[in-house]
Amino acid sequence: MKLKCPECDGDINVKDVVEGEILTCDDCGVELEVKKNSKGNIELKVAESEGEDWGE
Ligand SMILES: [Zn+2]
Repeated sequence: MKLKCPECDGDINVKDVVEGEILTCDDCGVELEVKKNSKGNIELKVAESEGEDWGE
């Protein structure tokens, strides 16, 4: 399945799409969260880093 990066419009290939999963765009490096919209279609949203929890 091919999805589009909302940041750079690049193609992102995903094998298994799991809602809530975080993907990284190979082109621009942004982190994208897999979301399902109201129609049940999969779309990618830029994952916002809430707070300052960078401890990973
Ligand atoms: Zn991108």
